[in-house]
Amino acid sequence: MEVRPTFTRSFFSHIIGFMAEEIMTPEVVKALKEAFKGLKDDVTLHVFTKRGVNDQFNDILAGLVRGVASLDERVKAYFHDIGDERDVASRRYGVERSPTLLIGPERYRVRYTGAPIGEEGRSFIAAILMASAGRGFLGAESAKKLAALDSRRDVKIFVSPTCPYCPQEAAYGIAAAVEKPGLVGVEIIETYENLDLAERYSAMSVPKTYINEELTASHLETEQEFIASLLAGRPAEFAEEAPVEKEKLDILIVGGGPAGLTAAIYAGRSGLKSLLLEKANVGGQVSITPIVENYPGFQTVAGKTLVDMMLRQASQYARIRQGVGVTDVRRTDGLFDVATTGGIYRARAVIIASGAGYRKLKAPGEDRLAGRGISYCATCDGYLFKDGKTVIVVGGGNTAITDALYLDGLGAHVTLVHIKNTLKAEDRLKQSFFQRDLPTLWESGVVEFLGEKKLEKVRLESLKDKSVRDIKVDGAFIAIGYEPSNELARTMGLDLDNAGYIKVDALMKTSMPLVYAAGDITGSEKQITVAVSQGTLAAISAFNDLTGGPAL
Ligand SMILES: Cc1cc2nc3c(=O)[nH]c(=O)nc-3n(C[C@H](O)[C@H](O)[C@H](O)COP(=O)(O)OP(=O)(O)OC[C@H]3O[C@@H](n4cnc5c(N)ncnc54)[C@H](O)[C@@H]3O)c2cc1C
Repeated sequence: MEVRPTFTRSFFSHIIGFMAEEIMTPEVVKALKEAFKGLKDDVTLHVFTKRGVNDQFNDILAGLVRGVASLDERVKAYFHDIGDERDVASRRYGVERSPTLLIGPERYRVRYTGAPIGEEGRSFIAAILMASAGRGFLGAESAKKLAALDSRRDVKIFVSPTCPYCPQEAAYGIAAAVEKPGLVGVEIIETYENLDLAERYSAMSVPKTYINEELTASHLETEQEFIASLLAGRPAEFAEEAPVEKEKLDILIVGGGPAGLTAAIYAGRSGLKSLLLEKANVGGQVSITPIVENYPGFQTVAGKTLVDMMLRQASQYARIRQGVGVTDVRRTDGLFDVATTGGIYRARAVIIASGAGYRKLKAPGEDRLAGRGISYCATCDGYLFKDGKTVIVVGGGNTAITDALYLDGLGAHVTLVHIKNTLKAEDRLKQSFFQRDLPTLWESGVVEFLGEKKLEKVRLESLKDKSVRDIKVDGAFIAIGYEPSNELARTMGLDLDNAGYIKVDALMKTSMPLVYAAGDITGSEKQITVAVSQGTLAAISAFNDLTGGPAL
């Protein structure tokens, strides 16, 4: 795990600075001017504010919209005082919350309740481009399905400025609202600025999507899942209607993190017919890494940006499908039959790059209250607990300490809960942690999470004297490491080590001929550089074994 010493108070104030006056940096202005060259029709942006409510965010939003509108005359900005008798717009559009931003309200129901800052700036710009184009940026298949919608849908998506997943979920909602202006409306709600709404909807973890007031997703969906839920008006499992009938491939790659994407680049470039299947969204763990500072060639790069670049490159050489999980791989007649949630494939070789996922505490109440105060991603959900909320961080390694420092930087009251009496983190992190003097409950474990609709208390047990006590908390961040995503490997009967990682040799070969593994799933150092180098080796080994030829 990377050391992220930059997650300090100064780092966070930099983000706040970025959100406020420095938002229109020369680079941002240049990129926006370029993007706005593609604008078609005029787009109106209506800002609604009320003095005394969320003033800091009122000012940020007004500044942001003024700045964006100054870049292109087709973007028109209007400002309204909520409650001012002379202002009819707030009554016409039913705006009560400050700040609120409406995009093209004459035609569309696209609303930001709160300022679209930080990560959400991306969906805001996408909204302008879509409203101007008069079409949502959806794939052809999704647009076709959406055309059949014939009744009203009101979508609410809860987001936070530091959540890297949220803009994509918001963009699906905006796209649907632009495609079906008469029927679909979307409200993107900044949780921190609207804590009462977040609490009412139990949206203490983001993104969270409600359609017609029913919770449909507590995570970033694939486009197909979102459209399926929108059509159904309830959570819908995505399943392809017409499964692919045993398409034959040279190499099938399981998993779209850095290891799988790199394998796809090498396999595709070698001329082999290759397909990468990703069960969720391409990017793997890197998508939730705010800043990567140890990937050669980049002094500092947002994880999402890095992985988007990998995806663009890999797509040039191999087909990539999102939202399709591989459920089984069996060898028959010299080929692999690959069963997936979206059809059956036949492949000559398989590369498994299924990565790793969060380890759970497995304490009572954990599953029930996950997303209702319990989180596994401080970057995504921490913002909600800033300014004096009480949180615990469970763990004592790099991730736990990084999370504790990050949350403390946000202004939360953080207590570390650790079952040992020493930390297992890197020296620089430990130094920062002890300098901050954060309260720590050593040799203590969480034995239960308590609360009705949201987390209210944690029950802690001292490992020294077995005493038990409850403490009141607003949030609990669990950072006790990762577990291999090895369900497929187990089903296939591959040799695993004691911790459940796939055993590989130096060429990434597993115990089954023509099956290779790469990245975190091999139990190697959990680093992007390691994942990409193993993805490279796996693809080269597969090529050599399939062709008997030299290295690529
Ligand atoms: C918060 C955080 C910060 C980090 N910071 C850094 C950093 O700064 N620098 C660094 O070098 N490393 C960092 N890491 C570690 C790094 O992200 C991982 O080492 C790297 O992502 C591993 O890549 P991977 O491709 O092996 O697996 P993953 O990134 O885990 O990707 C695996 C993918 O496979 C998919 N998948 C799983 N099973 C199936 C299936 N059956 N069918 C289809 N798809 C499947 C998953 O959905 C997932 O998208 C960080 C990790 C985290 C969580």
